[in-house]
Amino acid sequence: MRLILGDHTENFFQVDDFVSYARLALRRLEEVLAASPVDTYPDRVTHCQICRWRDVCEEKRRADDHLSIVAGIRRDQIRRLKQAGIATTQALASSTEPVEGIGETALERIRSQAGLQVQAATTGERAYSLVDEPAPGVGLAALPAPSRGDLFFDMEGDPYVLDGGLEYLFGLAGPDGYRAWWAHDRAAEKVAFEEFVDHVMERWQEDADLHVYHYARYEPDALKRLMGRHGTREDEVDRMLRGGLFVDLYRVLRQGVRISEESYSLKSVEHFYRPERTESVLDAGSSIVEYERCSSAGGAGGGRGRGARSRRGTAHRTARVAGRQKCRRERPMAPRAVAQLASPGGQSRLVGLLPAPGDDRRGAVRGPRVDRGT
Ligand code: SF4
Repeated sequence: MRLILGDHTENFFQVDDFVSYARLALRRLEEVLAASPVDTYPDRVTHCQICRWRDVCEEKRRADDHLSIVAGIRRDQIRRLKQAGIATTQALASSTEPVEGIGETALERIRSQAGLQVQAATTGERAYSLVDEPAPGVGLAALPAPSRGDLFFDMEGDPYVLDGGLEYLFGLAGPDGYRAWWAHDRAAEKVAFEEFVDHVMERWQEDADLHVYHYARYEPDALKRLMGRHGTREDEVDRMLRGGLFVDLYRVLRQGVRISEESYSLKSVEHFYRPERTESVLDAGSSIVEYERCSSAGGAGGGRGRGARSRRGTAHRTARVAGRQKCRRERPMAPRAVAQLASPGGQSRLVGLLPAPGDDRRGAVRGPRVDRGT
């Protein structure tokens, strides 16, 4: 039995010397929990992404039709709703009265979201609705015009390795195909970061109208973190950020569209615009777990010999597929949606996000319904 301390030193102990005490401690813990007056519930938290209990907790939430399965709902909103006697997604969807402590706009948003999820669960058909003109330049209207040089960017990082985490994969899809920069230690991370920034700057010089599309805040935040960590490419990253080069498709979608999924992750969103995948694709949390597995098997930052190289190769290939697929998933969204921007009226804007008639899709998509405001 090994005990690894905070300073990474290891201490070894005999299991037999401690196993009886461990059993006793476990029994006491179970007794305390059984007698606890605290009402606990597996509300979603960030750690769920990598938790080994996540399937069990998901099943429990779904079986209870718990409010936490409503996409985008906050914990304080769940508390307010429960105080108002609304405890399930179904009850929220069919409610009509104001709820103390939740503003009218926020209540309309979660009620509408719950309505779509209940509708999909009842009919077996996915559904979506449009938020009609939430505000000028917001939602789908925030999408820039497409350009031939547009790039689609996805990063993978592991917050648990080294001191402060490691950005181990920079994936970029564009007119020249997909390219990946890997890093398994701090020095390689710097090289990957520099090469990535230089590559984007070159593409930007060739096409002044291009944009770099990403999904959620991780990518621009990571670039800012890396320029500070390595003290390099500050001017370039600053120009990219100030020049409005990055377009967050997650923000565009959250402000402009509602979908009948419990999450707005790319994995959920892609059901609406592409055929079902046959290959396995990891989400962000699973990619971290896979990378950790690779590291502990002698992958990142160490490991010698054929066995270690083989394990590292397998894990990296899996993560590589995940990164590539995520990049590709983003790719068709923006151009198709942008193509509809010229059409007047909110409904037509979404058409570009959806498959054309005759597309081979699993599961029907119902809609659109138009919601006012957000
Ligand atoms: S999945 Fe894990 S972290 Fe999330 S609620 Fe369940 S036990 Fe807690």
